[in-house]
Amino acid sequence: MHFLEELEALEVEARKLEAPPAERRTMTRDVGTYADTFISSLSEKKTYSPDTLPALKALDALPFQEGPRDLGSLLNAMDTGINSTGINPASGGHFGYVPGGGIFHAALGDYLAAATNRYAGIFFANPGAVRIENTLIRWMCNMVGYPESALGNLASGGSIANLIAITTAREYHGIKAAEIPNNVIYLTAQVHHCVQKALRIAGMGEAVLRYIPMDGNYRMDTRALQTSVSADRAAGLRPFMVAASAGTTDTGAIDPLDTIADIAQAEGLWYHIDAAYGGFFMLSETLRPKFKGIERSDSIAIDPHKGLFLPYGLGAILVRNLEAQFNAHFYTANYLQDTLNAGAEPSPADLSPELTKHFRGLRMWLPLQLIGLAPFRAAIMEKVLLCRYAYGRLREMGFETGPFPELSIAIFRYLPPGQEDADAFNEQLVRYVQDDGRVFLSSTRIEGSYWIRLAVLSFRSHRQEVDLCLSILENGLRHLLATSALA
Ligand SMILES: *Cc1c(COP(=O)(O)O)cnc(C)c1O
Repeated sequence: MHFLEELEALEVEARKLEAPPAERRTMTRDVGTYADTFISSLSEKKTYSPDTLPALKALDALPFQEGPRDLGSLLNAMDTGINSTGINPASGGHFGYVPGGGIFHAALGDYLAAATNRYAGIFFANPGAVRIENTLIRWMCNMVGYPESALGNLASGGSIANLIAITTAREYHGIKAAEIPNNVIYLTAQVHHCVQKALRIAGMGEAVLRYIPMDGNYRMDTRALQTSVSADRAAGLRPFMVAASAGTTDTGAIDPLDTIADIAQAEGLWYHIDAAYGGFFMLSETLRPKFKGIERSDSIAIDPHKGLFLPYGLGAILVRNLEAQFNAHFYTANYLQDTLNAGAEPSPADLSPELTKHFRGLRMWLPLQLIGLAPFRAAIMEKVLLCRYAYGRLREMGFETGPFPELSIAIFRYLPPGQEDADAFNEQLVRYVQDDGRVFLSSTRIEGSYWIRLAVLSFRSHRQEVDLCLSILENGLRHLLATSALA
């Protein structure tokens, strides 16, 4: 009977994995209260606090143990260890990199997806979950002007979305390993680095990368593109793909999408557009014309965790030719034979590297339903106007500015009088803003020069937050000019 006794003992312990109803209710309440307080107190919290030591100590003090810990003390440790240091992307004062979102309704979608743990990889396993994901993808396809027959995939972010596109393109063009060094990919120096990274992961690291010159607004020079393609073809190389950007990370520039479409079409290139940052500006009818030609592309990466203000963990790839995407990713195994009966919907597992996946569609579907589309359209246009407003104010304050913001990113720098090193001065100014911490700004280097970036994309950034940022910059400028005058 020893066996049954052991089994019984194991069961007693194993059953602790299921929280009893009363405990579930208190834990849900406590987590809800924590999240609620976190959001309600955001306006009093810093956007950036570089003080990492106490944070890491609070976390290191919690090694895993055989027995349980209580939720309250863990929430406290998370508050100190995670939610009080570094950049706070939930803050409306986040103007660095590409600000994140985090609308609360999406958190509920994640909570429900995890609590019900539906399997969204294969239509057979959960027709509804797959229908929801494909409905979201078709909604985005419709927004960019793709035909009904197009589809794509909900990935973890823009990087994986770009990777799926590049893999699809490689397979569609039937490129064999030995031919890779002969294939040419056209891009600009402003393309997001995840494109080069994806090319390497997709085995195309040895392909020729042709960096096309840009105009004064950091957009691809399409005459130079045409010249390059012709020259490469004449030299016996194989022009394969052009990767354009619809909203670059540095400045929000949109490449001349329609003209690139003409060239891609005439030359038989796979036309990929990275719209990870910029794509959702198409929700605004006013901004939509800026994207003319996007509908003629073969694939588009677009990030709902950027322009749709969702929490991190959701990027999408849209592919015009569903069959090409399927052929590049489909694989099956004997143990999946029950799932093969063709369903009414293509399955995400057949269209991406993932098999078992997070049901990430729910975090997008629920907010769109609960809130409706109008506030998203308003918010995306608001960000553009806020950026234009900041751009004008920065010029009044004496900053040198980059191109007029195409979307919601502006670059600027101060040219101090005299012989001073402008790069060092602006670096100090960024440090001043970061040390203040109420808002967060980041910087970049374009064609050798240091620029400060203002990226407005948090759904919590409104006029008040932009004004705060401008006043901190103004104080920083005054402070630095005073101290450098003394030196
Ligand atoms: C953010 C971004 C990416 C990368 O997407 P992730 O979601 O961070 O993986 C790619 N391209 C552009 C233009 C971006 O802004």
